[in-house]
Amino acid sequence: MGWDELEATVSACTACSLCQSRTQTVFGVGSRTAPWMIVGEAPGAEEDARGEPFVGQAGRLLDNMLASIGRSRQVDASHPIYIANVLKCRPPGNRNPQPEEVVACEPFLLRQIELVRPRLVLVMGRFAAQSVLHTDAPISALRGRLHRLRFAAGEVPAIVTYHPAYLLRNLADKAKAWADLCLALDLEEGAAREA
Ligand code: URA
Repeated sequence: MGWDELEATVSACTACSLCQSRTQTVFGVGSRTAPWMIVGEAPGAEEDARGEPFVGQAGRLLDNMLASIGRSRQVDASHPIYIANVLKCRPPGNRNPQPEEVVACEPFLLRQIELVRPRLVLVMGRFAAQSVLHTDAPISALRGRLHRLRFAAGEVPAIVTYHPAYLLRNLADKAKAWADLCLALDLEEGAAREA
């Protein structure tokens, strides 16, 4: 499936009950050829209203974190990123996604990653990390190291970090999130040196 068909399929999706309560699907934003991709959990109220991931308070923190390392969701940025969520529809009341919702939605995210083919995926938060990496390990065990997402066409490196909504409530962990961004930059530099 190419981008157009994928986007149309997502916007018409009725594979789980979230289609009944959504305002609209939230597909993704940013450059579709970006070297970095961010994966979050699911749209919240503001994302559901606007149809774009990470546009609420957590999104503003995410944009600031990215700006601090010269990255941006603007498609014409010098270091653009692509942002998508595990779920494309808002869970009502911002409840946690249910396993059957993840199963129904996962193929869409995997296809987005395959199409972007980023050099790095930055996975934000426990929920997204456990979903994408198929593990129930705590985020403390997943941060700070390189993971590999396997696709038919090859592997995509992934780094796990805290969700910006968590960081808004736990300011002390911002330093760890900064360390995660530095790790991601180091990995990218290392890969560029090897290429
Ligand atoms: N949290 C997420 O994980 N994704 C969004 O798009 C917004 C908030």
